[in-house]
Amino acid sequence: MDNNVRHKLKAEQLDVPLLLLLDWQHLYNRAIRQASRLPKLEAPPEASEDVHDTGPTDEKSREGKQKKNNGKRSEQEDADYDMLLAQVTKSKTAGVDREHIEFAEERLREMRKQGMHVNEGCNKENLRELMQWGKVTRCESTVDNEPCKAMPDCPCNEEVNCGEVLQIVPNAVQQCLREFGPEGDRELFDELSGSASAVEEGSVWKAGGKLIFSAFDRNQSVQALTRMLNNAGRTRCVRMLMQMVKYSEAEYGGYVTAIQINFHLTGESFHAQHRDIYSAKQRAGPSCTCTFKKCVGTVCYTVGSSRQCLLETMTDTFSAIKPCGADCTGRRERRWLHSGDAMYFNEAWNANHTHGIPAMENGQDTGPRISVAFLLGAE
Ligand SMILES: [Zn+2]
Ligand SMILES: [Zn+2]
Ligand SMILES: [Zn+2]
Repeated sequence: MDNNVRHKLKAEQLDVPLLLLLDWQHLYNRAIRQASRLPKLEAPPEASEDVHDTGPTDEKSREGKQKKNNGKRSEQEDADYDMLLAQVTKSKTAGVDREHIEFAEERLREMRKQGMHVNEGCNKENLRELMQWGKVTRCESTVDNEPCKAMPDCPCNEEVNCGEVLQIVPNAVQQCLREFGPEGDRELFDELSGSASAVEEGSVWKAGGKLIFSAFDRNQSVQALTRMLNNAGRTRCVRMLMQMVKYSEAEYGGYVTAIQINFHLTGESFHAQHRDIYSAKQRAGPSCTCTFKKCVGTVCYTVGSSRQCLLETMTDTFSAIKPCGADCTGRRERRWLHSGDAMYFNEAWNANHTHGIPAMENGQDTGPRISVAFLLGAE
């Protein structure tokens, strides 16, 4: 797939924000209004301004956006901080005037002073309350495999298509982290949730239906994350993550180019269906803070509660799979991911499918899960 084709990937299928056509002046004005707590003159825009996730806006989050719960910030205000931060990050590499960047950074500082960088539900108290190993739930049930019903021998129903690799390996975390104890999955869960409480508030932030734990500036390189963790004295956590980097590269080849740690506090959280991004060229959204480079695949480790992963076979222009006809329904498959599991897929699989973590039915009964995903690049 060449870069031109990649470029045309629809935003909603990628793990990047929608292309936001906002100019600097608009952002400044909004930031100033908020920094000075002036009332907004305009209604919040209908279009989603969620920073990292392009997932469906469900009823609940719509409500949340409109509700001004007793003086607390709205999700819209969260999104404003998120977007301004991402704009500044991007502008630094895009040669935007120093003066403009400094102006925006000053606004960010003011917003931080007012706690606007801590998204709804991302304060340490809430994280400490929910991210406990004692709340972890394990779940096993038969899963639906919904093949294309239009035609039994539809190309979508092919188990493995040319070049595709998809593997789910049980107990990979325990294997990788065995020198840290017999329950490496639990050790990692405890270290990461402990680290989230130890570092500066705002390092866990809301992205679509789930939370991301990253360096404070939202840089998702391993280096940025481990630097922050080391500064907070979380050396054991760093050693575990570095061991996982080493293990992933040895096991799957390539080099780790980015890390994404997701926190799912309960089964109500979700990660919308998407493809992973394997080229910097795709990083088109102005609110994207990723530094992803060309990759050969993704390995994602689960620790904590079991969740289902939804795998959807795609027949769009980026997929090599052709629909069986106009009535093709595609194929949907759900796979359980349990604590310690590694899920790996390569670029070919990623092109032909989307993946995501749907919200659970009765999601409040499902405990916390952390996923640690590494993007593997060729160089
Ligand atoms: Zn992904
Ligand atoms: Zn991004
Ligand atoms: Zn079909």
